[in-house]
Amino acid sequence: AATAAPVLEVEGLSKHFGGLKAVDEVSFTVTRGGIHALIGPNGSGKTTTLNVLSGLYTPTGGRLRLNGRDITRFAPHQRAGSGLGRTFQNIRLFRSMSALENVVIGAERPGNGIVAHDRASLEARARAALAFVGLEARADEPISSFSYGHQRLVEIARALAGNPVLLLLDEPAAGLNSSEKVALTALLRRMAAKGLTILIIDHDMTLVSDVASHITVLNFGRRIADGVTATVLREPAVIEAYLGQ
Ligand code: ADP
Repeated sequence: AATAAPVLEVEGLSKHFGGLKAVDEVSFTVTRGGIHALIGPNGSGKTTTLNVLSGLYTPTGGRLRLNGRDITRFAPHQRAGSGLGRTFQNIRLFRSMSALENVVIGAERPGNGIVAHDRASLEARARAALAFVGLEARADEPISSFSYGHQRLVEIARALAGNPVLLLLDEPAAGLNSSEKVALTALLRRMAAKGLTILIIDHDMTLVSDVASHITVLNFGRRIADGVTATVLREPAVIEAYLGQ
């Protein structure tokens, strides 16, 4: 079915640091539309997987496909051009620039369907993304005046403005207070309802179980579970891995 179209195919992915198998022959598929979470206890290989997906690390083995295209050897900017969007665990915004200017940078992603240098279209896309996260009214304010939680929303808007094929969210709940987490959960649900395809890397089980339809669980660099959220969270190996923390 069209709804099960693979967007990201991770096949036998490995990343070794000397003798340490940080990621060891991990496979999973993210299908179109909705939220897939990659979870696991501390040191299980989540960040390493994310760094291989975003092109920061060259894998020791395995293959990555985005919309059927082999991106295993693509540099980070080539992956962005192929439709990979991302946010960072530590927010990376230009603090002296306005929210709108930051989001315009995201809208400028190559391959985004906007004619290069069409400033009006870029700004319109950026304003729409800010509206989607609820910050349209503050578009022209400098980032330095935004709370940490709002900066995270601007970062998500910046990634959205690039119209990504797949959006990687690196620990989106990190550093948020409980009301900000509630707002983030609602936003993630609206993103999924809009048909966006999202891969969240997080250890926050509450957030993940609230928003993800599918989960892949890592432990000691290996995949220990993969599938529909409710089923995965009931698996003894998953419960044991988390209790062992
Ligand atoms: P997680 O994000 O799930 O906490 P990581 O991917 O950060 O896990 O780490 C997985 C394992 O790989 C850990 O044992 C960690 O110490 C190791 N590791 C991560 N990055 C490096 C690196 N650059 N060099 C050596 N070992 C690393």
